Amino acid sequence: MDSVQTLSQLTDSLGPVLENEPLKNHTTLGIGGGARFFYEAAHSDDLIKAVQTAEELNLKYFVLGGGSNVLVSDKGFDGLVIHAQNKNLRLQGEKIYVEAGVPNAEAARETVNAGLTGIEWLATIPGTVGGAIYGNAGCFGKSIKNAVSKVDVYRTGAKKRLLKKDCQFSYRDSMFKRNNDIILSAELALEPGEKQAGLKKIAEFMAQKKETQPLDKRSAGSIFKNYAFHQPQDIESIKAKCDIPPEFLAAKKIPAGWLLEQVGAKGMKVGDIEISDKHANYFINTGKGTATQFIELLDSVKAKVKDQLGVELHEEIQLIGF
Ligand SMILES: Cc1cc2nc3c(=O)[nH]c(=O)nc-3n(C[C@H](O)[C@H](O)[C@H](O)COP(=O)(O)OP(=O)(O)OC[C@H]3O[C@@H](n4cnc5c(N)ncnc54)[C@H](O)[C@@H]3O)c2cc1C
Repeated sequence: MDSVQTLSQLTDSLGPVLENEPLKNHTTLGIGGGARFFYEAAHSDDLIKAVQTAEELNLKYFVLGGGSNVLVSDKGFDGLVIHAQNKNLRLQGEKIYVEAGVPNAEAARETVNAGLTGIEWLATIPGTVGGAIYGNAGCFGKSIKNAVSKVDVYRTGAKKRLLKKDCQFSYRDSMFKRNNDIILSAELALEPGEKQAGLKKIAEFMAQKKETQPLDKRSAGSIFKNYAFHQPQDIESIKAKCDIPPEFLAAKKIPAGWLLEQVGAKGMKVGDIEISDKHANYFINTGKGTATQFIELLDSVKAKVKDQLGVELHEEIQLIGF
């Protein structure tokens, strides 16, 4: 089937579908070639319908949230990009029910306004609740797994309700990274709080982030996961080169940004992609940066950390269309 026929089938089934939509317009990095087809799913049922239609037409697909944790290839994505725009949100007692396309900041603020506490930190994370659940996003010692009680997904032809334990959350990880579930919505459990205290907490978290992270620049947040170690021998090669701060040793986790700083990564650049001098785990698009430049820089700092400190860093960002 050619593109014209496929587009016609898609629009018959789904309504408006864009062709060759530049994905750089939908990612916080401002990088990414065109999506062969691009669909805005305004409701959870539209998300399901889009997946079903893509499967019927043998098209590759993926769900895009806020585009704040992805690097999209310069070639774009040769299939259907389903943009999660399902944004229903409902408060019930000490719980909030949120659809996957709800922005994290909105979910956090709604709970605070309703006199609840527990996810103030989420207000500082760009993107959507669906994306946050997918990657178990977190900061300030918390992650979304702390609040999730249920997640509704679309899995192999049917809707399914999962409990927190089914999601296999761990540090920046969940079983959603290993299967094809489409996250439709979630229920988050909170505690009674005080609105003014919650607003103050959000402002403090935001101020702390602004001080340490280049929030005014185009980035995808932290590029690499922090290095969790188990045995003293896992960090021998780092110790041979640098003094590891005691708080990292106590937490058995070394921030990737600190490791990158030790190998002189700050300020390194390839084309218009530069490593932030505020936070070495942030790659900034300073203008017309490309995914190719991004990957070149990523590979080169990864190799430096491996060669000099013996640590294999793992990407936190998701690579799309490579
Ligand atoms: C300035 C900045 C600061 C950041 N700070 C933090 C931080 O403190 N902590 C942190 O953890 N992250 C942080 N991030 C990264 C990012 O914001 C989070 O990982 C966020 O949760 C990603 O959500 P998203 O909606 O943008 O996902 P996207 O980037 O759109 O997608 C990420 C992945 O999730 C999948 N996905 C999205 N929605 C669904 C769905 N409904 N069903 C199935 N799969 C889905 C996508 O297919 C993709 O694989 C930061 C990013 C930026 C730019």
